[in-house]
Parts: sequence; C-alpha cells; structure tokens
Amino acid sequence: MKIDLISDTVTRPTSGMLDAMMSAKVGDDVFKSDPTVTILQEKAADLFGMEDALFFPSGTMANQTAIKLHTQPGDKLFCDKWAHVYNYEGGGAAFNSGVSCRLIDGDRGMFTAEQLKDASAGRADIHVPFSRLVCVENTTNKGGGACWDFEELKKIKQVCLDQNLDYHLDGARLFNALVVKNETPKQYGGLFDTISICLSKGLGAPVGSILLGSKEHIAKALRIRKLFGGAMRQVGFLAAAGIYSLDNNINRLAEDHQKAKNIEQVLNSLSYIKKVEPVETNIIIFYVKDHLNADDFITSMAKKNILLTPMGDGKIRIVTHLDFSKEMLEKLVYELKVFKE
Ligand SMILES: *Cc1c(COP(=O)(O)O)cnc(C)c1O
Repeated sequence: MKIDLISDTVTRPTSGMLDAMMSAKVGDDVFKSDPTVTILQEKAADLFGMEDALFFPSGTMANQTAIKLHTQPGDKLFCDKWAHVYNYEGGGAAFNSGVSCRLIDGDRGMFTAEQLKDASAGRADIHVPFSRLVCVENTTNKGGGACWDFEELKKIKQVCLDQNLDYHLDGARLFNALVVKNETPKQYGGLFDTISICLSKGLGAPVGSILLGSKEHIAKALRIRKLFGGAMRQVGFLAAAGIYSLDNNINRLAEDHQKAKNIEQVLNSLSYIKKVEPVETNIIIFYVKDHLNADDFITSMAKKNILLTPMGDGKIRIVTHLDFSKEMLEKLVYELKVFKE
C-alpha cells in the first residue's frame, strides 16, 4: 500500500466521476459550443454570486491571467512573502505581465490591512512602481493551510477601495477554508474583484481551475487565456469532472481536516518531533529534532511507502486528501510511532 501525502493533487478520479466524464456532452469550447463547460462556468458563477466564470487548465494560468487583466507592465502588486503567485508560478508576474511584487512580511502567509497600508505608503511618488493590485491566498499553501480572518480581508478591501487597488484571491484551497470556518462562497464573491479556485486539489478532479469575476473582467480573461495558449476544444470531458467535484466533494473536506488533526496529535506526542505548526485544514507542517535531518526522515518514511514533501528550512509537509483512507491513516500513525531516532 503506497501512502502518497505529497499533495492533495495526487488523487485519481473515482468511478462516479469517470462516469460523469464519459457521458459528458461536448463541443468546441473555443467557439463557445461546449455545453458542459458552459454549465460548469454558470454553476461556479452562481455559487459565488459573481457575474461570470472561465474554465482554465491550471490554477497558475488562472492566477496569471488575473494578474495580467488587472495590471499594465511596470505596475506593482502586493502579496505576502510566501504567496504562491510570487514563489511558485515560475516568475510569471514578471514574465507575463512585467509586474513587480511588493512582498509583505506576514504571519503564515497572511498579512494585515495595517501592513498593506505601510507597504503602500508614498504611492503617489513617481519614482515608485504604480500600485495596482493586491493578491491574497486562502488557505495559505506555504503557511500550512492557514485560514484568513474574514474581518481582516474586509479591512484589506477597504484599503483597496481607498487606494484604487484591485483585489484578487488565490483560492486554490478556498473550499477548505469555507468548510472549516463555516463561511460561504458568496461572502467571498462579494468581496473580491477576481477569485481563482482549483478543482484538482481537495475536490478531486484530474484537471482544472476556474477564474471568477465581473463580465468585463472575464471578457478580458478570455482573450488572455487564448494568448497564454489555454483555450481548449472538447474540454467538456474535464468540465464534467469539475461539476462532479463541486456537487460531491466539498463537504467531505471535513474528513481530510479530521485526519490532519489526528496526525497533528500523534506528531505532538512523539519525542523526535521538534515542532508542529498549528493545523487548521488539510496541511500539516512539522520539524524533526535537530539531530535528525528532515531529508533523512523523509527517505526513511519513503522506504515504508509513505511519501512526504520537504519544504525547505527543515520543514516537512503532509497533505491529506480524498484518496487517503482510514486504513492508510492507521498505517501512517503506526509507522510514525515505531520510528527509531
Ligand atoms: C496549487 C496552487 C495553485 C495553482 O496550481 P496549479 O498546479 O497550477 O493548478 C495556486 N495557488 C495555490 C495557493 C496553490 O496551492
């Protein structure tokens, strides 16, 4: 039994999802004639109470399209120093949009409205890049699945309104936050100019992300997606998986969170563990004690068929997901407990 905890992207479509994919009605989506894609986009827009939505092959392309549609070359965006849009999208903000990132030194990937105000002070000065966009991430990836306080997100919105900044949410794992905090997609839809969500993470689809926004923003996004090479033909087969994931796999995220909590408890009880970051959703970040090396620990777990990710600076990451069964959890707990320092 292989236990792959590298990411919540490792899931395979279930038979129910495969059935939905196989029976999808398709057409050429570049000519807007794929009915299944249209249903998915309308469903997502309705769910968030936003005007329009567009299907993308990846979350990176959805975020990069958002950055491009909100900015002009030479502009600047604000994000946390750990933001995915800055750290893990290949330098796309600079490459695709000619935009620089003003990094904010937040806590677990989250900053405050006050920090944003400080970072944007002196913005009228013609020497500094023009401030155009704020990007936040919920849940935070490098921050270990931490969830934002919605009140803080509202305060940041006020700064955006005062300073004429657009507001983008990288919601690759937004549904994890919604489930834990008992929040609704519409709350977020009402706050942000654009939102990206991933269907291929906790929701279990094999491919796909969605960008949500106003009619005007999505019309721009459609052109940019074409330019980026992301306009796809009979893609209703994949959209069908997305529809299935929204219909079936949101509330069950609570099971992934429960399993992550169990793992957190076990890790905290082990003598060779130095620290476990507080677990809020489905991501666990922990450190082994100094005399053990993180990479060696990961290698010895891999020999037991348990796959974990190194996150740099001695951090080790576990991500729970749809394909991580109760039986696998038991085996993981057993191997963690019998591990010899
Ligand atoms: C996974 C992820 C993305 C997008 O990733 P893709 O692999 O391109 O789909 C964007 N933001 C965050 C926070 C992520 O975790």
